[in-house]
Amino acid sequence: LAHIAAQDGRVHAFLEVTEQAALDAAAQVDAAVSNGTFDQMGPLAGVPVAFKDNLNLKGTHTTCSSRMLENYVSPYTATCVEDMLEAGGIPLGKLNMDEFAFGSSTETSAFGPTHNPWDLERVPGGSSGGSAAAVAAGMACVTLGSDTGGSIRQPASFCGIVGVKPTYGMVSRYGVVAFGSSLDQVGPFARSVEDAAFAMQAICKHDPRDCTSQQVETDFLGAIAQGAESVRGMRVGLVRAFMDAPGLAPEVRTKLEEAAHVLEDAGAEIVEVELPHANAAISAYYVLGPCEAFSNLARFDSVRYGYADPGHKDLGSQYEASRAAGFGMEAKRRILLGSYLLSAGVYDQYYYPAQQVRTLITQDYVQAFERCDAILAPASPRTAFKFGEISDPATMYLSDMFTISINIAGNGGMSVPCGLGEESGLPVGMQVISPAFKDENMFRVAAALE
Ligand code: GLN
Repeated sequence: LAHIAAQDGRVHAFLEVTEQAALDAAAQVDAAVSNGTFDQMGPLAGVPVAFKDNLNLKGTHTTCSSRMLENYVSPYTATCVEDMLEAGGIPLGKLNMDEFAFGSSTETSAFGPTHNPWDLERVPGGSSGGSAAAVAAGMACVTLGSDTGGSIRQPASFCGIVGVKPTYGMVSRYGVVAFGSSLDQVGPFARSVEDAAFAMQAICKHDPRDCTSQQVETDFLGAIAQGAESVRGMRVGLVRAFMDAPGLAPEVRTKLEEAAHVLEDAGAEIVEVELPHANAAISAYYVLGPCEAFSNLARFDSVRYGYADPGHKDLGSQYEASRAAGFGMEAKRRILLGSYLLSAGVYDQYYYPAQQVRTLITQDYVQAFERCDAILAPASPRTAFKFGEISDPATMYLSDMFTISINIAGNGGMSVPCGLGEESGLPVGMQVISPAFKDENMFRVAAALE
């Protein structure tokens, strides 16, 4: 708490610090230590944790960094948050993000951006920028974020830490404010692969309150028990189209090649695989994502949730004025896009083909994973950029060119820090991608890269 008080004025990772809840939880751990019952506590006993502000924690604000939900107080706790607390985590508070998770820089937060702890003039990435910066600045050990197109992996790479997007269905979405329900997945940020494995063990559970939640037996700590040796005998795929992608910074490409050598030296076999439709992933995502967001954000109507503009006599003008004042620019852009794309006549031209592209991308991954156990790729095409440097939304959308296809196919992906770029001197993250529900595979590879 003292560290947050000292650091967060500059970083601005936290939107709310739950000081009393943290002290109460810590007192319980202290009591367990003194009466000899500490060993019966969960695997995260005493570990300071914090949560992206689209995850409900009873009694705290859940704003999604939007004016729309500025005064919304959660009446219940999300399953993933509950799992972290049941495992013994000490809740420090709620973390800044792009508004409703729309963005790649945390600049769209209605409450001001988060700064990258490596260079305060640069963005921490997004949308889970607060979750990444809090861990990178040592203000929390493990945080949770959400990833719809790259929002865990890209900020993890910008902040030089580990960030995991589990396979869709591994972590419950109950109590997570929905952006794109078929794409959203919660996962941890941590400073090491082992810390991330502890968190994954706590949150990867079947939850009957989320109908897409699956029952999967996992042992992340077992998977990485041999450290770098864990990768021996595995086949790791490289995608030529990713390596030659226009827009990939040379320093990131160099790191990718180095990472492949590290894996080879540790006993992995490198194979080339193809993802022929991955280049259509961004286009498909910016149809499917806004359509789902448009539908999910309809609930913020100023009656059931959110900001209500006062003094309107009829419901129509209250909706209009409240949504006009409550949502920021990027949220409005997504709502307008989604409403257009789903309208009669247009639907057949965009939404339907985007779903067909989704099937092709999913099949690409299935075929690629017949030839390898995991895929190595960049997490982000470049290192952290400066505030305001990318002002055109279409350019910002390219930030996720290497992460988005994984959400579309639903498999797992994680970002692992691989040192500093030779040109920028800033952290570079590599992405490891695993077949659906074989997330332990990417942990094995990550343990060798760390
Ligand atoms: N940057 C992407 C977007 O703006 C992904 C965001 C996310 O994963 N939540 O939609």
